[in-house]
Amino acid sequence: MTLRTSDESSVALDERTRRARTEPMSVTAMGGGTHRVVTDSGDYVVDLTGGRCTCPDHRYRGGWCKHLRRVAAEVNAGTVPPPGKSPVECSVCGREFLADEPVDDRPRCKRCDFDVGQFVVDDNTGDLLVVAGAPGGRADETTVPDRNVTVADYPGNERYPDDDPVVRVMYPLPPGLESGEVRPHHLRQYRFPASRLRPAGDADDERADDADERTRMRQFA
Ligand SMILES: [Zn+2]
Ligand SMILES: [Zn+2]
Repeated sequence: MTLRTSDESSVALDERTRRARTEPMSVTAMGGGTHRVVTDSGDYVVDLTGGRCTCPDHRYRGGWCKHLRRVAAEVNAGTVPPPGKSPVECSVCGREFLADEPVDDRPRCKRCDFDVGQFVVDDNTGDLLVVAGAPGGRADETTVPDRNVTVADYPGNERYPDDDPVVRVMYPLPPGLESGEVRPHHLRQYRFPASRLRPAGDADDERADDADERTRMRQFA
């Protein structure tokens, strides 16, 4: 028995999918949610979110032309940024990352996105800390004050990337402390590799879980 495909449109669809995968096309993100597709037969602009393309095939027949398919495939494969994201250099560490559009004047990657006064959690100890200085300087090029060792080589920091930006942090002041009672050790700053810190209040904040656990324990004590 010979299998015969009676559905012509599905054959045409398969052919378009095949061409979308194999024909030479270069795709670049243009910002504003669009991608530019350069082919042997012309340059087209694809709006993936809106499902639109400037090619004749799309304008006359509508639907998913090979350019739309190609952009979708490359976004899924991670070879081009998705609509609404732009590749930019982090203004702190210089690493390239995908920023939400519109992009800030001084974009910061997730690793470097700390603000002075923000509460953070030490990944090593679970301690709650406060950011005391904007991130800057590489962990392997910043020396810990009064110690002859870099932040990267400081015990406990070995497993974080050497090129991490350094973040200065403090322990929060004890609750109820009067201004006259503040001592130098209360204001001591520590230098941490950025990857060792995460924003406090994340869903997986263990410290919050611990506090809940302690409250429950007290209720039964
Ligand atoms: Zn097209
Ligand atoms: Zn960065």
